[in-house]
Amino acid sequence: MHQILIIGSGPAGFSAAIYAARAGLKPILFASSVEPGGELMNTTEVENFPGFPDGIQGPDLMAKMQEQAEKFGTEVKYEDVSEVELLGDVKKVMVTSGQTYEAKSVIFATGSAYKKLGLPAEERLSGHGISWCATCDGFFFKEKTIAVVGGGDSAMEEATFLTRFASKVYVIHRRDTLRASKIMQQRAFDNPKIEFIFDSEVADIAGSDSVTGLTLRNLKTGETSELEVQGIFVAIGTDPRTRLVHNQLELTAEGTIAVQDQSSKTSAKGVFAAGDVIDSVYRQAIVAAGAGAKAALDAEHFLASLED
Ligand code: NAP
Repeated sequence: MHQILIIGSGPAGFSAAIYAARAGLKPILFASSVEPGGELMNTTEVENFPGFPDGIQGPDLMAKMQEQAEKFGTEVKYEDVSEVELLGDVKKVMVTSGQTYEAKSVIFATGSAYKKLGLPAEERLSGHGISWCATCDGFFFKEKTIAVVGGGDSAMEEATFLTRFASKVYVIHRRDTLRASKIMQQRAFDNPKIEFIFDSEVADIAGSDSVTGLTLRNLKTGETSELEVQGIFVAIGTDPRTRLVHNQLELTAEGTIAVQDQSSKTSAKGVFAAGDVIDSVYRQAIVAAGAGAKAALDAEHFLASLED
């Protein structure tokens, strides 16, 4: 039986792995088979992670974290976890390839998933002009007119990045003030290719094979208008990924995994959680990394108490 299994390969997962591996716990970390590395794999320049005064590309930062975790003995499995059993003394993690792993403790660092607009056309045109990842798909929109939905840092970052390819980028936001940090707002305001459409929501997406336009609704006047675009990037935040633990761990009203006080302890003994899956407020790589360290330390103390 293993000492510790870590689910998730973002900053929380790898930070937990570094600490657990250095404590001699030989952690196994489950990274996705499709998209290991978490949210930072879809980011360009990370400017606010301490230690990198000139910035670092998101994927490079994740590669360094993985290298550091493996250096101390973390075993990374490129597998998707399909099911977990957390309530007994022996925790079980099942992966889609059919294997079951057993351990005395588990750290959940499954992060969060992109929110959708909830429009019928969204599924149909996903990958055909609708995207949630500018760094993945921006290249396909060379000299096109596109829209970014959202008013947070992600929307500003995506819009600014997309001006490298697109001839014009509309930012559609449901209010008249942005949620994004001042520096990100200013960068977008200063960009001549970006135009803001405030107080508006996307009411419909047009196109049979690929996106051809949007119907916008002004939320103050109720009026609708058409906007011709060939692409739409949705950047309206994320939801914590808790599907695996429903009915096993307590969740908060915000839908994150509930942890006790300042710790990473969940409602199940020997199960710890860290990163965006417990955080509906800060959702920063550095905060997730700190939370991952806490989870590994909590797990270490728990395992030591079992020995006693
Ligand atoms: P966010 O801060 O939650 O912003 C989501 C935006 O989408 C808000 O403007 C929100 O509008 C809007 N929105 C939410 N649901 C919507 C809906 N159904 N329809 C239309 N609009 C909707 O999410 P985020 O931008 O992904 O950022 C998440 C966290 O990551 C933040 O802490 C952010 O600072 C951080 N982040 C940092 C960086 C960076 O520093 N480089 C880059 C990206 C993200 P309202 O404003 O009206 O609520």
